[in-house]
Amino acid sequence: MMRITRSDISEMHPRDVKIITKMLYLNMSSPISLPVTEIKGRISREEALDILRKTDLLTLGFLADEMRKRLHQDNIVTFVVDRNINYTNVCINKCRFCAFYREKDSPDAYILSKDELFRKIEETLEQGGTQILIQGGLHPDLSLEFYTDMLQSIKARFEINIHGFSPPEIQHIASRAGKSVRETLSILRDSGLDSIPGGGAEILSDRIRQLISPKKIRKDKWLEVMEEAHGLGMRTTATMMFGTFEREEDIIEHLDAIRSLQDRTGGFTAFIPWTFQPGNTEIEALKRNSRYNRFNRATAVDYLRVLAFSRLYLDNIKNIQASWVTQGLKVAQVALRFGANDFGSTMLEENVVRAAGVSYRVSKEDIINAISSAGFRAAQRDTYYNILRFF
Ligand code: SF4
Repeated sequence: MMRITRSDISEMHPRDVKIITKMLYLNMSSPISLPVTEIKGRISREEALDILRKTDLLTLGFLADEMRKRLHQDNIVTFVVDRNINYTNVCINKCRFCAFYREKDSPDAYILSKDELFRKIEETLEQGGTQILIQGGLHPDLSLEFYTDMLQSIKARFEINIHGFSPPEIQHIASRAGKSVRETLSILRDSGLDSIPGGGAEILSDRIRQLISPKKIRKDKWLEVMEEAHGLGMRTTATMMFGTFEREEDIIEHLDAIRSLQDRTGGFTAFIPWTFQPGNTEIEALKRNSRYNRFNRATAVDYLRVLAFSRLYLDNIKNIQASWVTQGLKVAQVALRFGANDFGSTMLEENVVRAAGVSYRVSKEDIINAISSAGFRAAQRDTYYNILRFF
């Protein structure tokens, strides 16, 4: 049974309190009093907008939960023990939603030394970690050799899965090296890169990308990098950041692009939706500008709604992650009844969302307790969703 304390409730938006109270009152394990509609077969792009706009939250949640149960019949919720390692915070893209990047000559700009990198990996392994998520800014001076050397020196010392370099980084490394995306991926893979995170997708709608990250690779390039990676046998995740300026149509464009690529390649292991955190970002600072003040921060209810719809629309992606990093543990627990079957990562270190002023400190035990008290069996997994141990 999920436990929500008085202090949790006092920190919530009133709309969220109302919904969560209603959910608890209805007892979500037997939602017979809900106005259930049925979804038969695949949701077409044409019918998606109506479903996303008009279906009430609890019906969406119920349908997504039913789909999760069909895909994961063992009542298991998984998580991975890993650490985010950001090798540099210098970035030429300067996305307007990002609080993490720094100019090259900024006093707090950095490139991680190998000693620091190795120390972080040792700590991860000591805590039972199986993966490191290596991501960084698009540094103007780092060459392909910097990346291959980093990968090779990690693999020479440690047995750990390197989940690294999102599509904007891959494209940046390729263009600096004067090589194709495929050739660059091949070289990185041969140097030790195992799998690729789905970062940098934000919303796969160029209309929104132009507003929030005008210098970042466009939708087609993001999809091309992922398709090339899948073609080389590498597995990747897909993400979606929402809660800026997008409309429901943009969310559907994003989900449809992911689903179509997955139909062709089958290379995505999971889908991870999360919400924009405006603290310390340019978008937050630009709010007085009329072009930017339309952004509407996503509430927990918006999050649950999009999460549930994603579960329903992405019928060809088995795993959907809850985002405790942006939502906190309580909403992430609720997300397990809105289509999510995975709690993501323990994130022994996280810097990007923290730079936006959002920092939930969570231990492995907290995650196991959260999963168990929400009524599921907790299990540690590897990058490829193989179960390693139960708790
Ligand atoms: S989101 Fe990534 S690409 Fe954009 S500024 Fe931040 S570090 Fe750079």
